[in-house]
Formats: sequence, structure tokens, C-alpha cells
Amino acid sequence: MAEGFSVYLAGYPQELVDRVQGLHGQSRLLPWLQEQYPEAHQVRTDRALYDYVQDMRARYLRNGAPVDKVLYDSRLRVLQQALGTHTRVARVQGSKLKTRREIRIGTQFRQMPEAFLRMIVVHELAHLKEMNHDKAFYQLCQHMEPDYPQLEFHARIYLGHLDQGGEPLWSTGAG
Ligand SMILES: [Zn+2]
Repeated sequence: MAEGFSVYLAGYPQELVDRVQGLHGQSRLLPWLQEQYPEAHQVRTDRALYDYVQDMRARYLRNGAPVDKVLYDSRLRVLQQALGTHTRVARVQGSKLKTRREIRIGTQFRQMPEAFLRMIVVHELAHLKEMNHDKAFYQLCQHMEPDYPQLEFHARIYLGHLDQGGEPLWSTGAG
């Protein structure tokens, strides 16, 4: 059971990973998460997501490349294709010019707190300017969202929970 967290939290200090696993073992991890983020966001459709992303882009990256297409993608593997394994490796850039203006968000993020959605949108917007998970990239993320590191850490914990077959915490029922 601990494996899921290790994968999602690869690159974080071991003591932090141990603490997460300890809390999980005591069934305290999820209540703790839910207490910090009590509500799910309302950005449920691709259309609403498109507006949400354009709004953030207009606020923070006015001079950046436009985004043409935004959608929730159920096939996206968030860890491998979006967040990365936190080891500062370059992203796979197969057809980078083609895909650059399209932002895909894993469907897991449809039923999450607004803070986690904001984190992943900030992450993808930052990639419009910085391809790699390097220092400049994370600085840009923090420019858009000062709490970015903490939000990414908490979202990773939740994704690790889901990946281990855990029940969704912010399930809303209605599609
Ligand atoms: Zn990334």
C-alpha cells in the first residue's frame, strides 16, 4: 500500500514521505486533506475549463502563446505526462510544436478542490514558456501561484491515494 505514495512522492525528502505514509496508516491522511480543502470546484465541462484556463492565462501570461484548445482527458496519465516524477527530467517532446497550444488536464481533476485544479493549470501554463521541470519553470509556477509547491505536494498525495484504489474524496455524483 505504501508503494503508491513512494511513486507519487519520488524526489521528496524521505521523512516527509514517511510522515504521509504514517498518517495514511492511521487513517488520518484523508480527513486531514479534506479539512484543508473542504469543497470541490465547479469547473466540470471542457467549456468551463477552457474559460478557466484563458482567464488565468490572461492574468499571468499576457504575452505568451495563445491556447487554442483545452480539455479534460481521461487517458492522460497525470504522473508520467503532466506532473512528472519530480526529478527534473525533460518532458517527452514528440510533436511539441503541434501540441504546444493545447492543454489537457487529467479527468481526475474534475472532482477536486479548486486549489488543485489551479495548481495543474498553472503547471501547464508554465510549460507554454518553460519546457522542462527546471528552476525557471518552478519560479514561473510560483509567480502565478505562490503556494504552488505545497499544492503540488498535496495533489500528489491525493493522486497517490486514488492510484491505490482509494475512494474519491470530492466526488460530486453529477457528471
Ligand atoms: Zn510538467
